[in-house]
Amino acid sequence: MYIDSEGIILRQTKTTNGRRMVLLFSKKYGKISAGSSISEKGSSKAALAMRPFTFGRYELFKNRDNYHINSAEVLKSFYKIGEDVDKYMCASYVLEFTEKLLVEEQPAAQLFHLLIDFFGLLEMRRKKYETLVSAYQLKAMAIAGTAPQLSSCVLCGRREPIAGFSVKEGGIFCDSCQNKIPADRNVSLIFHADIGTINILKYFLDHPLSSLEKIGLDDEIQKQIRMMLRSYSEYHLGIGSLKSESFFDQK
Ligand SMILES: [Zn+2]
Repeated sequence: MYIDSEGIILRQTKTTNGRRMVLLFSKKYGKISAGSSISEKGSSKAALAMRPFTFGRYELFKNRDNYHINSAEVLKSFYKIGEDVDKYMCASYVLEFTEKLLVEEQPAAQLFHLLIDFFGLLEMRRKKYETLVSAYQLKAMAIAGTAPQLSSCVLCGRREPIAGFSVKEGGIFCDSCQNKIPADRNVSLIFHADIGTINILKYFLDHPLSSLEKIGLDDEIQKQIRMMLRSYSEYHLGIGSLKSESFFDQK
């Protein structure tokens, strides 16, 4: 059966005889593995659509549980991402995170659009790329139904004063509940985040990525938010260390 879908290639590996296995985030069918003999080398219409950071249309043949990409064409290429090493690393990290977040063959159109927005904004951005990465991550987790509770204390519902953020409890906690948060040997599950940091996270959740065009976080706040999101996604989604994240640790 022939099917087609818009898509973004998450990853591909070469196999034998010039063939490759492609992990495609298709808009219609979600994350699927497909074989293909289309090489990304060359300048044919199909070859260009096999390159990284490309929004394309893919025509597939489905045979029982196997997919095969027969042809492809570019709808939009974010090729400038590949021309800047920092952008390239940020986009690779986001693809790896998205791959882990997606469930095989489960459509996720909202996340698909978020990813395309992310590519477009990253390509045009001049600095502070990581602000965009953190916002994407938090929004993606919200789409997956695992957003942290940020508007009121997870234990008593009071709005303030905020004492911190508990990964385990799934959101912020207030001054009076501070003692009720069980002490944990794993200190990375509790963050002493102030209202400013929490408001940034809330802003990420409530506004489209495009509203961040002129916003870039200070390095210290960025680092704290990165650690909070990493710990949160590991605890609630099982997304542990990613291959491409060592890039941020060097910063
Ligand atoms: Zn409370």
